[in-house]
Amino acid sequence: MAEEKGKVNIFEGTMAHLTYLQIEEAAREGTSVLFPIGVIEEHGPHLPLAVDVYGSYLQSREVKSELERKGIKSLIAPPFYWGINVATGSFGGSFSCREETMISVLFDAMSSLKKWGFDRVFFINHHMDGGHMKALNQAIQKARREIGMGIYLVIDQFFAKGLGLKADEPHLLIYQSLFPSGPPSPYLNIHAEGHETSFMWHYLPELVNEEVWRTLKPTNLNLDDLLVWVKGGTEARKVTPQGYFGDPTTASPERGREEMESYGRRAAGVIEDLLQGRYSPPNAPCPEVALEP
Ligand SMILES: [Zn+2]
Repeated sequence: MAEEKGKVNIFEGTMAHLTYLQIEEAAREGTSVLFPIGVIEEHGPHLPLAVDVYGSYLQSREVKSELERKGIKSLIAPPFYWGINVATGSFGGSFSCREETMISVLFDAMSSLKKWGFDRVFFINHHMDGGHMKALNQAIQKARREIGMGIYLVIDQFFAKGLGLKADEPHLLIYQSLFPSGPPSPYLNIHAEGHETSFMWHYLPELVNEEVWRTLKPTNLNLDDLLVWVKGGTEARKVTPQGYFGDPTTASPERGREEMESYGRRAAGVIEDLLQGRYSPPNAPCPEVALEP
């Protein structure tokens, strides 16, 4: 995706750039839908609000091309971005909607897809706020019950564990964690840190303020800090006065490209496994952290 550098358009390569004829033909062919989910949320003094929207969009692009290589057709839905921000809710720019609003919008989007003939949706989510994840899970479960579609949430093993999700839930597609295992560090990397700074730097360098980035220091925050942070409000703002949680100094454009491609391979791998009836949750060890108080 090097050609995308510096000019990412979140509609490019999605359903939004197709005609209704192409949508109807894709539905007839049994095409799967990849649904990017992000939010507009503060991401420190060096990154713009749209990081999670770009992240889920770029991840979906990677998954789509990996699936294409395997001979599996998919379409990308227009990226969703009116989600829920609890932890960062006290910062300017962190738009948040009510739980029932998010559930309704997602449910209606899935009903629309079903009406046009699509049967399978894979959510590619780039925002792990507890409130947001709860609403997303509820929307998926409600739609599975009431619309009868195959709807799945593609999720990293680390976050599935941390959010207390049961690995055998039928709507979860868990891939082996991208996060390094090995001796656990007491310091957590959660938000606007090395990973997010890296992919933004590779794909959208004009949106990364390198001058400010050079002044940032690791936050050295631990699990106790996280449990305060996830509750949001002014207490959360005291934990992360500059709006990032983790170590942005480890960022590099090369890391951004590698992690995005690695995500694409892992997510496409579990989708392929599911379509071929041989998916099972990973049992490899992965660092464990409770993200929910
Ligand atoms: Zn983010």
